[in-house]
Amino acid sequence: MNFCQSQRKMADRSMINDFDTIVIGAGIQGSYTAYHLSKNKKALLIDQFALPHSRGSSHGQTRIIRKSYNKACYTEMMTECYQLWKQLEAEANAELFRQTGLLVLGTEEDPEFQSMKSTLVVNKIPMESLTSEELSRRFPAVNLPKEVSAVLDKTAGTLYADRALKTIQDLFRRLGGTIRDGEQVVDIQPGSLVTVTTTTGIYRAKSLVITAGPWTNKLLKLVGLQLPLKTLRIVVCYWKEKVPGTYGISKGFPCFIRISRDTNQHHFYGLPSNEYPGLIKVCYHSGSGVDPDERDVIFQQPSQDVKLVSDFLSEEFPGLDPKPSIVEYCMYTVTPDQDFILDHHPEHSNIIIGAGFSGHGFKLAPVVGKVLCELSIGKKPSYNLSPFKIQRFQNNLKSLL
Ligand SMILES: Cc1cc2nc3c(=O)[nH]c(=O)nc-3n(C[C@H](O)[C@H](O)[C@H](O)COP(=O)(O)OP(=O)(O)OC[C@H]3O[C@@H](n4cnc5c(N)ncnc54)[C@H](O)[C@@H]3O)c2cc1C
Repeated sequence: MNFCQSQRKMADRSMINDFDTIVIGAGIQGSYTAYHLSKNKKALLIDQFALPHSRGSSHGQTRIIRKSYNKACYTEMMTECYQLWKQLEAEANAELFRQTGLLVLGTEEDPEFQSMKSTLVVNKIPMESLTSEELSRRFPAVNLPKEVSAVLDKTAGTLYADRALKTIQDLFRRLGGTIRDGEQVVDIQPGSLVTVTTTTGIYRAKSLVITAGPWTNKLLKLVGLQLPLKTLRIVVCYWKEKVPGTYGISKGFPCFIRISRDTNQHHFYGLPSNEYPGLIKVCYHSGSGVDPDERDVIFQQPSQDVKLVSDFLSEEFPGLDPKPSIVEYCMYTVTPDQDFILDHHPEHSNIIIGAGFSGHGFKLAPVVGKVLCELSIGKKPSYNLSPFKIQRFQNNLKSLL
């Protein structure tokens, strides 16, 4: 008899806590799902670490929010996301969003640049197109090659991520939801009632939502499934302004995405200086594969990704010291097509999976949480979820059943 079996056997029925839905993972996606659930249901949110923590993907002070996407399904969801973020701000009386605009920087020939631009035009989203000369006049501290143009998504800005996560968890509790943090889920028994065993308790519910970020496949192993997910260690660097305030939020400097300068490279993105005065956050939109439990192991070699950002900044953001002042870590969980997974477990329809947010999921959490809530209570989802189905990976799914 293994640890979980003996724990279950020992548990007297009165010790098992019953809920309508259990959510595993109190990152932004699980927390938002639990919040939506708590309006009508008895919900439990479990996390392996004591909250707040910085070992997953949702920590840190800021994230970019934008409508400029190269896939219509996300732009469509963003309309409601903006409303729900605003509603959350009002409900909690907290500032969670600051409008800064977002510059998309790329060449007119680049298909991604073109499709981000056309999404803005087609959806009549307030925007402006700028040539590299116009951009230099407006933002003299940016030095782009002549062939690069810019599109300014005026609706975009910064989300205060840590504050948003705490706000949503506080509201969940206020609505009667239960959070059990510092409890790692070690066993899941599917069935019409799903039984979840943690390191300290046993819980049962009519449905289960798994939003475990980089640990998703470790948990899915317990229910016989492996998804084609890669977990990447992202190096988050802050760069010092040579003249403080040059790229400051208070001086109106926007967020930016610099579309790949080279076909072998990924994007760079940045947010104006805000959380650490005099320092701006600029990152590379990729990283090296890592086991989530080993993300913070110190590496001897300086990261190649830091060098890529440093080279980019030396050329195009000359007002920054090209040596990072602060280096932190975060994780992406990426799918092969960079689209999310929002679906039922193929064999157990009352187990719902929200995963693979591929480095762009924070802004979309209000709608992700809404549809995961709908799936878990058997309601028709408010959005067309076909781009997010597990079925699309038919050829690289590993069923352990
Ligand atoms: C550097 C960086 C920059 C980013 N920038 C942006 C941006 O500008 N805009 C944007 O929209 N998105 C951005 N993202 C992406 C966004 O932050 C993520 O998509 C989002 O935070 C994913 O949240 P999650 O809830 O899925 O995962 P997580 O936050 O990782 O949460 C998963 C949780 O599950 C818990 N868990 C796992 N296993 C167990 C278990 N066995 N038992 C109990 N609990 C468990 C973990 O402890 C964790 O708390 C960025 C991400 C990074 C890393």
